[in-house]
Amino acid sequence: MFDSLSQRLSKIVKTMRGQARLTEENTRDMLREVRMALLEADVALPVVREVLARIKEKAMGEEVVGNLNPGQALVGVVQRELTAVIGGDLTEEERSLNLRVQPPAVILLAGLQGAGKTTSAGKLAKYLVETMKKKVLTVSADVYRPAAIDQLKTVTEQAGADWFPSTPNEKPLDIAAGAIDHARRRFYDVLIVDTAGRLAIDEAMMREVAELNTFLKPAETLFVIDAMLGQDAVNTAKAFHERLPLTGIILTKTDGDSRGGAALSVRHVTGKPIKFVGSGEKLTGFDAFDPEAMASRILGMGDIVGLVKDVTKSINIAEAEKLATKLKAGDRFDLNDFRAQLAQMGAMDNFSSILEKLPAQFQEMAGKVNDKEVQKQVRRTMGIIDSMTPLERRKPELIKASRKKRIALGAGVPVQEVNRLLKQFEQTQEMMKRMKKGGLSRMMRALGG
Ligand code: GDP
Repeated sequence: MFDSLSQRLSKIVKTMRGQARLTEENTRDMLREVRMALLEADVALPVVREVLARIKEKAMGEEVVGNLNPGQALVGVVQRELTAVIGGDLTEEERSLNLRVQPPAVILLAGLQGAGKTTSAGKLAKYLVETMKKKVLTVSADVYRPAAIDQLKTVTEQAGADWFPSTPNEKPLDIAAGAIDHARRRFYDVLIVDTAGRLAIDEAMMREVAELNTFLKPAETLFVIDAMLGQDAVNTAKAFHERLPLTGIILTKTDGDSRGGAALSVRHVTGKPIKFVGSGEKLTGFDAFDPEAMASRILGMGDIVGLVKDVTKSINIAEAEKLATKLKAGDRFDLNDFRAQLAQMGAMDNFSSILEKLPAQFQEMAGKVNDKEVQKQVRRTMGIIDSMTPLERRKPELIKASRKKRIALGAGVPVQEVNRLLKQFEQTQEMMKRMKKGGLSRMMRALGG
């Protein structure tokens, strides 16, 4: 996501890097580039103006003029202002869910059909159940699509929450009344209400969701919007904002290759905070919105925060700690450890999403990586290690020509693959040594170039 914007800004940064001093001319050039980049990313014009005005004011300020590295300082300004505009200027409380009401706290989800409301209802339910330890009930007021009601039931079950039945024969307001009554009597903390969406905004639909909102008096009325929408996002957001007292935004499909303008525009048009971002169809793809990480990513610096989160979600912490303890004790990283690492990688199903969060030069790779292929390759490599004797695994330097031949035969692969594996192992061993010395931050810097 946000590719063209990040690439464009990276280019500006490179140009600025070579220049020792900030002049009126190069500042003007820089601002023009930023403007083009934002417009190309489908950011609405009023938002572009605001961001530029803020950047200009700060860029002319002391923090950039007189700085030894004006390019770097300017990037800092662009990043900070971008962060502020997409929500960095809000407090943690303003950005988090408001559940400080008499339970059940109602969360109403509104948006166009296909925006990802039902999926988000499931993701939100999982988040509330697992992270916030809440007792959650969901209900669908989408009486136009029976399939939508079933879909909510499925995701609710996956989320470990409860589902309140509804049918297409009922009126949305009656469904809402039944659900809230049930939620009260059974002491639910939260009731998530999924609503109908149409392909285009129409008056009847707006009236219906507005009536639901008046009746339910939700603690949160969240506008669900697809990050892939371009300029249309602005009009859609405006229409919903005018009819509903929105309290926040869920930005979905951030895994797609959108140009990112929607995120900036929607926040500006509605004045409401983006509270969550969804990525992928699985219920685990749901995170609190992090404006700083998002701004870094827009700037092409890679979403390091998101990356670390993804990696920690995927790896087996116990295994990683075991390895860290072993290395600290001065033991060598051997092929057994390498195999354990491979096993973890094989268990990951989000390898491409991890690559996507790395700096720009890796993001291109993400599109080419096929998670299934990675897993297949990992299994093949593990097969080679399994054909080695315990001694060979502990002392890989013993593996010379004749042993290589035997291992290759055992694993059913050409000898070259054994060579390649040993080379990979040596590189990893080398990286482990460096990590032990410099820690994660140094490795990240090495990756960033
Ligand atoms: P609704 O009509 O607003 O309820 O939208 P749905 O929740 O049914 O989602 C529409 C389609 O988008 C479905 O195929 C979902 O699987 C898909 N979808 C929803 N959220 C995401 C997301 O974050 N990433 C991706 N890639 N697909 C999503």
